[in-house]
Order: sequence, then structure tokens, then C-alpha cells
Amino acid sequence: MSDLTDNSTWREDADRDLTFNAGDRLELFVRGEGAYLWDADGKRYLDFLAGIAVNSLGHAHPVFVEAVSRQAATLAHVSNYFATPPQLELAARLKRLAGTGPGGRVYYGNSGAEANEAAFKLARLHGGPERPRILSLLDSFHGRTMGTLALTGKPWMQAPFGPMIPGVEHLESTIEALEAAIDDRVAALFLEPVKGEAGVIDLPAGFLQAARELTARHGALLIVDEIQTGAGRTGEWFAFQRAGIVPDAITVAKGIGGGFPIGALITFGTVGELFYPGSHGSTFGGNPLATAVASAVLAEIERAGLVENAAERGIQVRDRIAALGSPLVTGIRGEGLLIGVGLAHPVAKAVVAAAHQHGLVINAPNDDTIRLAPPLTIGDVEVDEFADLFGRALATVQDALVLEGNRS
Ligand SMILES: *Cc1c(COP(=O)(O)O)cnc(C)c1O
Repeated sequence: MSDLTDNSTWREDADRDLTFNAGDRLELFVRGEGAYLWDADGKRYLDFLAGIAVNSLGHAHPVFVEAVSRQAATLAHVSNYFATPPQLELAARLKRLAGTGPGGRVYYGNSGAEANEAAFKLARLHGGPERPRILSLLDSFHGRTMGTLALTGKPWMQAPFGPMIPGVEHLESTIEALEAAIDDRVAALFLEPVKGEAGVIDLPAGFLQAARELTARHGALLIVDEIQTGAGRTGEWFAFQRAGIVPDAITVAKGIGGGFPIGALITFGTVGELFYPGSHGSTFGGNPLATAVASAVLAEIERAGLVENAAERGIQVRDRIAALGSPLVTGIRGEGLLIGVGLAHPVAKAVVAAAHQHGLVINAPNDDTIRLAPPLTIGDVEVDEFADLFGRALATVQDALVLEGNRS
């Protein structure tokens, strides 16, 4: 093993010792603070990905550090044979923020996929043999475990792992497609309010309201996957709230832990009562360490007004991108601080590489989209710096395209 903080040799170790599932790691990061990351050479990066919408408070936020340290020194794990104050506190907080009303219930897992697995099982309990159908959207992403892969609307991701769990059908994201597909044999409709992994794709106007109306009419559950959109990311606590609907369940993960692994299924109405003893569970799920940290993160988002900040900074970032006037930018999608920048050419990977060169971390969910999901804590300084660095990254790639065009 070589010096693991040496920026020239870590790739050899990664290539030899890690599975290839994540592809080539782009950088080796050794430290973070606020909206910034540092590599082993001491180069600083502005982090406009935040671990894929995870580091809501940025890196090494004092509230996060204090919560991890305090709870680790108090009680980290006891199993779900027992209750702990942090898991009860977080459940009450999630119910309040999601607006479930008194009947709402919370199931804890450790990731988004686990939250969606729980939701899948809830849908089966609700549906029983009379309702074998589960609807989901084409191009959706709900996770990579076998259950959540079946929900995920990307045939190319499923193909190597077939046969899939039966019963899931994928629809075009249109009200017409949903109207045509739904009937009384549907147990649940799963959807993301904004399809993050697909390239930050918004649902058509009125889709969530129509989905609520149609599922209610046919006795199917509406399950909203808020794993990427939740915890204030879109300028609302949860993105469904903008549509003024009440779902039957939502799933959350990513941003609620601020970097500590946690996921949860939050139910509305009485549907959470379908779980009976032994029907589902997780050894780690809802442990006092994870739940104490998530409570502290959510409390800080609330105290510091970061949901409002996400809305305001989201507008500011959009305006700044538009003001760059780059011929590469064709459109800006998403809500709040979950932003998709559409590109005129399939050069997203090149833009990411150029951004990294300039000291900006961004992400390419597909060939012609840049995804931005900075910490919710960003202010004027970070927005200014982002606009400068992103402008330079776009210009680097645009210049290369022009050169290529001249040559051919
Ligand atoms: C990230 C994500 C998941 C999966 O979460 P993991 O924690 O990676 O298992 C599911 N749904 C959506 C919308 C996501 O963005």
C-alpha cells in the first residue's frame, strides 16, 4: 500500500482494491469545511455537489460535529428491541416537517434504498393479492437494491440483473399515460417530484395533483420519493408541499443526515399501521447516533432558515448561470438548490473535468446535463465564486469545441 495521502499514487490503490462499480474516482479528498473540499496537494475546491445533495450543512459544520460527538459518547446503538430519545425526537420532527398529522408514522433505515424497500413492502401490504400492480415512471431512480431497482425506470440498469421482481410497470411522465394505466388493481404509484438522477427533470405542471387525484380515486397509494428533493433542497421542506397535495407516504435519506447515513419512510393517514411486528426491520435503522445527528441537522436547517436560503440562492444561481451567456447552456431545470443545467452538446463529462481543474466540484448525471446541489448554507461569496469558476469551465469546453470545429 502506498502513501494514501499522496495525490499521485492513490489511483493504483483504488484500481487494485475497490470494486469497479462506481467507475474511476475523480479525485482524492482529504478534508472539508463549509462549502469547500481539499485534496492531498492542498488544492481547494468549491463543492457544488455536496456528496449528491447530502451535506446539507456543508462539511464539518459545528452542529454536525457536536451531534456526532455528543451522541457517540452517550449511546450509539441498542437495536430496535428498545426505544431511545433521539429516535422518538426525530420521528416527531419528521412528522411535523412533513405535515403528516397525528396519524403519521416513521420507519427508519440507513439509506435511500432501504427507505424505498420499506415503501415497496408497504405497497404490497396495502395491495395484497387483489392489487398486484405497482406503477413507477420511466427514467426514474429509486435505488439499486433488487426491490428498488425494479422500481427504477431504467431498463439498461435492470438488464444485467434480471429477472426483476414482478408487478412493476413504468409509465411516461404524462397525466394521460397515468390516466390510461391506473385501475383498481394498482397498489401504489411511486414518483420523484424532480428526477434528479435522470438529469434534474421536472414533472409536467399539474402532474402531482393529477397523481394524487387518480391514486385516491382508485384506492392506490401515492408514494413520493423525496430522497434527493427533501430536507429543504428544493426551497420547501419537501418538494410535494409545493403542489399542495398530501401523499400516503414519502421516503427521505440523503440530506436529512447531513452526511450521516440514515433513511426513513414517513407515512400519512393510517397506512403506516399496515406494518405488523416482524413484517420489516433493520438492525441499524433508527439507532440513536444516526437519529440524533439527523435531528440536529434538521434543527439547524430550521434555525438558520436554510429552506428559504435554498429558494433564494437557487434563483440567484440560476440568474448567474443565465448571465454567463454561454452558448453551451440550453436550459436550467429543477427547483431551489437542485439544479440541472442542460448543455447543447454531449460534453457534460468534459465540463465536469474542466470545473475540477478550476477548483469546482459539479456532477454530470448524463451526457448533456450538469447537476448542481450545493450545501444549503451557501451565501454571496460561494455564489460569486461558483459563477466565476463555472463560467471558466464552460469557456474551456466551448473553446475546445470551437477548435475542434475549425479543425474538421
Ligand atoms: C439517491 C437516491 C436513492 C437511493 O438512495 P441510496 O441512499 O443511494 O440508497 C433513491 N431515490 C432517489 C430519488 C435518490 O436520489
